[in-house]
Amino acid sequence: MALIVQKYGGTSMGSVERIQHVAAKVAGFIARGDQVVVVVSAMSGETDRLTKMAREINPRGSKREYDQILATGEQVTISLLALALETQGVKARSYTGWQVPIHTDAAHQKARIQKIDPERLMADCRLGIVPVVAGFQGLTGEGSVTTLGRGGSDTTGVALAAALKADECQIYTDVDGVYTTDPRVEPKARRLDRITFEEMLELASLGSKVLQIRSVEFAGKYKVPLRVLSTFKDGPGTLITLEEHHVEDPLISGIAFNRDEAQLTVTGVPDRPGIAAAILGPVGEANVEVDMIVQNVAADGTTDFTFTVHKNDYDRGLELMQGIAAELGAKGVRGATDIAKVSVVGVGMRSHAGIASQMFKALAAAGINIRMISTSEIKISVVIEEMYLELAVRTLHKAFGLDIATV
Ligand code: ASP
Ligand code: MG
Repeated sequence: MALIVQKYGGTSMGSVERIQHVAAKVAGFIARGDQVVVVVSAMSGETDRLTKMAREINPRGSKREYDQILATGEQVTISLLALALETQGVKARSYTGWQVPIHTDAAHQKARIQKIDPERLMADCRLGIVPVVAGFQGLTGEGSVTTLGRGGSDTTGVALAAALKADECQIYTDVDGVYTTDPRVEPKARRLDRITFEEMLELASLGSKVLQIRSVEFAGKYKVPLRVLSTFKDGPGTLITLEEHHVEDPLISGIAFNRDEAQLTVTGVPDRPGIAAAILGPVGEANVEVDMIVQNVAADGTTDFTFTVHKNDYDRGLELMQGIAAELGAKGVRGATDIAKVSVVGVGMRSHAGIASQMFKALAAAGINIRMISTSEIKISVVIEEMYLELAVRTLHKAFGLDIATV
């Protein structure tokens, strides 16, 4: 017998039939003697629909009012699921965030959970009742409803699992786990049996949309075993844990990629102290987020300064750089939007040298030119021409032994 928190996402709650399917799944766990606390998202598309309506009425309305309406999506699904559980002969009780209560700070639309009182939910579990809790929402000290940011139900699930000291937090979604890379790019991608929090965090921040980043941070911090699995297909999913690699595991866990970045280069910048600050300061002030940065000194005492920003910020960045280049007496500004970032991620990198050279050799053999490189302890990223992205992903997937064994 285990205490499990199960979070079902918007697709899993997308229709009456799907809600009935989820109820049958939960009933199966109860029949086996487990205690289950369920967290749900709104029906898929519902949060977007509510946002759109609010924007139509008042695009710059107060965040408090946006939260008040956004939180209604989950209030519908908790009661529908509780009703569906009753038809399965399972006792259930639905809770909004404020009924639990889930206390948050007052940062509307991106609130952070501060405290959860698990007593009510524990009492239900002891009586064999399944609590069904609304994800994505909480309550401030002043009694206002907050939301946790898009995809925030994942965080509700993890936070509840931490507060309840649950044996596992299961995130049910429409994919059956975390993959070595996007199967739409490399059909030989494999589902990973397990991955560490750190790796998952890198993959999530590099664009893998399986879990909300904040939920992974939370799970890592509170050591909540987290499992991603499919609502629609039985299987073990992917377990996200603290555990380090086993010897037989591949050194690289996954290949991530991102088509959303653009590159900006200020050429021929005088090489003196303060240049990086002079270039990046105004970028930060304009609220443009910088990802990779490369600077190099040329023999003539000038430097080329290159960095990447989100494609949406490219025009703004280019304009800023033209002004700055003139001020600094730099040669000029170049930019490119037809670039992509490819990263290899794996905790195995810590204990093994040579991963970078293996990566660069594989790309070279495929004729792919590298424009920028950056590394962290468990990740190596390169920027390449966008047209080579899929080739690069497949090349690296194979080079690091991630291809599914073909029979
Ligand atoms: N319903 C919210 C959203 O669509 C929260 C969630 O699904 O996790 O972002
Ligand atoms: Mg979601």
